Amino acid sequence: MPELPEVETVRRTLAPAVGGRISSVWTSGLGLHMARKPPRARLRRLVGARITAVRRHGKYLLLDTDRTESIVVHLGMTGRLRIHRKADPRAPHTHVVLGLDGRELRFVDARRFGQFDVVVRGQERVHPGLGLLGPDALDQAIDVAAMLATAKDKRTTLKAFVLDQSVIAGVGNIYASEALWRARLRPTLRTHRLTAPAARRLAAAIREVIERALDHGGTTLSDFVDADGTAGENADYLWVYDRAGQPCERCRTAIKRSVLQGRATYYCPTCQTP
Ligand SMILES: [Zn+2]
Repeated sequence: MPELPEVETVRRTLAPAVGGRISSVWTSGLGLHMARKPPRARLRRLVGARITAVRRHGKYLLLDTDRTESIVVHLGMTGRLRIHRKADPRAPHTHVVLGLDGRELRFVDARRFGQFDVVVRGQERVHPGLGLLGPDALDQAIDVAAMLATAKDKRTTLKAFVLDQSVIAGVGNIYASEALWRARLRPTLRTHRLTAPAARRLAAAIREVIERALDHGGTTLSDFVDADGTAGENADYLWVYDRAGQPCERCRTAIKRSVLQGRATYYCPTCQTP
């Protein structure tokens, strides 16, 4: 599932779309996440609009236009947003095609957990997903004092806390395990027991794992590719995620896998304090 580094990698490789004029709109008519269909009529009203910027908040991409509206895209589990030549054969599971100055921006999503919407800029808060997001994990330094105060209130596990998009936007299942290993914190630790030094370590670790993944073009475990179709190389650099039974890079203890809130979680039982 694409997380902040993968979505940011897509954003950067979508740079050639900026300045392009939307010349046509096609949608499959099928529902995506929560059976929501890409809004065909609102998208068609954007024909003639120019794309002025591609932004990101958490795992959401925002394609600003020179109208009052922006296109919102979430890649879900298997979503791909790529620029193609018109002549390229259309892949199965293509759900949206925007004509763009002789090229096409195509949204392909086999499992249909993605989102493709239109929002009025400045009214992002009314969007069911965008509206919930806390500060982006990469855009600004994490406010450790605010994070600690929220942690005291939440009374959940540290893993669930890091995954909560309203606390910090952009971290998903892979980088939650990675950041908690880096910060030497056990995923099952209750948030009200988080200390100030541990919160500082966690904030720094989140930033570090995201920047490290970005340097490697994101993590590709199965589907992820950037807007040029290139897979990321960060899977080779993960410390704990998907490495059960392999030695911890810090203390050589075998990495453990457990399931927390239905999601696979990886940690070192020795150097991540319970
Ligand atoms: Zn260890």
